[in-house]
Amino acid sequence: MGLLSLGTPLHWLESRNHCEHVRDNGLEQLIKMFEAASARSDDPFLWGDEIEYMLLKVNDKDHSIKLAIDEDDMLERLAEDGVSYRKAADNDVSFHPEYGRYMIEATPATPYDGASLKSYAYVERNMEARRKIVVGEVKDKSVVPMTYTSFPRMGVGLFTDPPAKANGAASMSLFLPDEIINRHVRFPTLTANIRRRRGSKVAINIPLFKDSKTRSDSEVDLTIPHRQLYAGHDDEAFQGAAQPGSIYMDSMGFGMGSSCLQVTMQAPDVRRARYLYDSLVNIAPLTLALTAAAPIFRGFLADQDVRWNVISGAVDDRTPFERSEPPLPGHSERGNTRPDANLQRIPKSRYDSVDQYLGDIDVSGEHYGFFKEDYNDIESPINDKVYSKLQSQGFDPILAHHFAHLYIRDPIVIFNERIDQNNDEETDHFENIQSTNWQSLRFKPPTQKATPDNHSTPGWRVELRPMEISITDFENAAFAVFAVLLASAILKNNPNLYIPISLVDENMKSAHRVNAYTEQKFHMRTNIFEKGSAIVEELTLGQIFNGTDSFAGLIPLVETFVDDTFGKTENVDELAQIKTYLKFISFRSAGKIPSTAAFIRNFVVSHEDYKHDSVVSDLITYDLTKKLYLLGQYDHDTVKEFFGEELGQDLIESHH
Ligand code: ADP
Ligand code: MG
Ligand code: MG
Ligand code: MG
Ligand code: MG
Ligand code: MG
Repeated sequence: MGLLSLGTPLHWLESRNHCEHVRDNGLEQLIKMFEAASARSDDPFLWGDEIEYMLLKVNDKDHSIKLAIDEDDMLERLAEDGVSYRKAADNDVSFHPEYGRYMIEATPATPYDGASLKSYAYVERNMEARRKIVVGEVKDKSVVPMTYTSFPRMGVGLFTDPPAKANGAASMSLFLPDEIINRHVRFPTLTANIRRRRGSKVAINIPLFKDSKTRSDSEVDLTIPHRQLYAGHDDEAFQGAAQPGSIYMDSMGFGMGSSCLQVTMQAPDVRRARYLYDSLVNIAPLTLALTAAAPIFRGFLADQDVRWNVISGAVDDRTPFERSEPPLPGHSERGNTRPDANLQRIPKSRYDSVDQYLGDIDVSGEHYGFFKEDYNDIESPINDKVYSKLQSQGFDPILAHHFAHLYIRDPIVIFNERIDQNNDEETDHFENIQSTNWQSLRFKPPTQKATPDNHSTPGWRVELRPMEISITDFENAAFAVFAVLLASAILKNNPNLYIPISLVDENMKSAHRVNAYTEQKFHMRTNIFEKGSAIVEELTLGQIFNGTDSFAGLIPLVETFVDDTFGKTENVDELAQIKTYLKFISFRSAGKIPSTAAFIRNFVVSHEDYKHDSVVSDLITYDLTKKLYLLGQYDHDTVKEFFGEELGQDLIESHH
């Protein structure tokens, strides 16, 4: 997660009086960060991944799986003495709090050196070490960490251990108890302030999978409870918030309580960071489709395979006016924004696909290579005051637009003790805005300390954020390594991957569809070594990754890079390991082996307790989770079933 300040978080009605102060000072901080670090050059290609786990309580007597919400004290033990994990694995291990009380985030403690072949081979061992440490730390030995993207029974009955009822004041959810939320005050406040600013609970509606006995679109979802506890909010579902034919969810936890895989990479300088960011803009939706792992929400099979739009809706603090939607009965068009706030229409949630390229533009403002203004072809509203200020400080128009777009958002949580900051040294106000713009990519600028001579502090980084988490460390390592090697290959070979960003948005939508990894086509630029206009074709993931007549393919690009860079190594085992990752990506994208989502969906519809009504019962969830657990342990038969005969055999040999 982003910053975790200590202190007293302000209620929205107080907090909203300080939004402009946070933006003004966050902007000063940003300007000083750029002043310090713009001339930095030749930073090494470092990288690191982030993995999010769910702690699951397994009860073999009553055949149930619950989210374990009383193991979170482990984070204090792990954080207290991070050094004790120094020898756990190369690059150490570091643990971080996440939104869910049942969640743990883990990263390498220091980033990997991307110039070394070793780093790509070591990351999986590092991931294994992280998991082992968590297994060692749980108090209740029937609790296991699993890399589940979305927990199938989240929001159905009593789904936590110990049991907790949905009646909390932070979320006011009909489904999720506040006891699932991280105990740190930032998280319940974030949850409550999103609802307060918006003026109603968030309303997430994703398409329900229609099976032969599924309720029809004209029938009410009888599983939505009627309650009279929070006046004005308990009836929202029946006043239009819950849409027919959908799985309705009303709380931040449904999204932020899911798990993902992210990678952050450091570019040599700001110019190359912008180019790398732009190059990954259209890679992002492809990685979402390839890693799809979330076909079940609130106990129902969804007619989609990923978590992305669920999180997008889960933190959507826009008022009805900003969303260009009528307010629910009795609610204000302006939510609870300040009466004098100058609201504008905002097409997207603060969690969504990026709205513009950064331009491969020189620090001096010169066009560098491939970018054309008309690639930024979607509406991307800006904060005019921020834009003018940045322009007057010498930011080129595209970069100024990027930050001015982030600054259309209000900070959601402000800590009373942290209102006054030293803008020469601190970055919290900037981070407050930056880290609550949850987009498919994040452009991470360095701090004021990152002067050109100080390479001990991070430089210009780009984060790829859409990937879903996979069950095995092997897959998570493979996806992280592939993304990072692709970035390396891009920085070395300088392909031109630009397409109009409206097409990237379409790709993002396609990535949600059931079996998108085999059944959808994605817009892809095929003339990637030309400066001129984009030739865009619609291709399957199999064609994009493995190559086709008109397009060389991302895997061959990576493979050539690996052979050129590391081919002469004596560490043949490490090289072979990377080739196995590439083989896996190749098989998955070609549809030779199932996506996690397809595997889960197939398990559910084939289960004897499944009644063709789209309901995923406790028993199905138990059996499914046991199966996925076995997969995570590289159980012989399950590995063969999931990865197929050939790759399955490779994995069994290398993981036992
Ligand atoms: P956030 O949650 O804000 O994305 P984290 O600190 O959790 O950030 O982790 C981001 C990842 O970035 C970690 O894997 C970390 O190892 C990695 N990282 C840290 N420093 C650098 C750097 N200089 N260059 C690239 N990656 C880095
Ligand atoms: Mg995280
Ligand atoms: Mg993190
Ligand atoms: Mg994070
Ligand atoms: Mg317990
Ligand atoms: Mg991150």
